[in-house]
Amino acid sequence: MHCPVCGFEDTRVIDSRLIPGGQGIRRRRECPGCNERFTTLETAQWAYPRVVKRDGRREPFDEHKIRTGLLRALEKRPVPTEALEPIVMELLRWIRSLGEAEVSSRRIGEWLMDRLKTLDQVAYVRFASVYRDFQDVQDFRRAIEHLADPGEEVDAPTPRDPPSRTA
Ligand SMILES: [Zn+2]
Repeated sequence: MHCPVCGFEDTRVIDSRLIPGGQGIRRRRECPGCNERFTTLETAQWAYPRVVKRDGRREPFDEHKIRTGLLRALEKRPVPTEALEPIVMELLRWIRSLGEAEVSSRRIGEWLMDRLKTLDQVAYVRFASVYRDFQDVQDFRRAIEHLADPGEEVDAPTPRDPPSRTA
């Protein structure tokens, strides 16, 4: 890389070390032009698609929001918090693998519900109530019936649902 001080076109790496936890590499560099030394940090950079909300607004994908939503659904349930981590990691991999510029919050929600269904059924219904924006007891009944009959199409639209925009 160029020297950030004098703009010299090549700088020498004089030291490289893994940062604690192994999530990146810190390099000490020296500029042959002005002898200035500086440090660069190299970490993986993931490009996540923007999330298209139900109302059409776009927002950056937020891993923290996903965790918060899952923790809320699992509150006071006999599921260890550590059980969430593999689900979050798998979700991140799945989203990156889509290679799309945008993904609907609905599609993310359905993916997570699918995982929660096998993890904890109460958490599944709680999560579904938020993601599908349950309006009344009928919606809860439908979600619970779906647990009893897993052969049913997951994305079965209720009369209120807008048309699915997933590809
Ligand atoms: Zn320089």
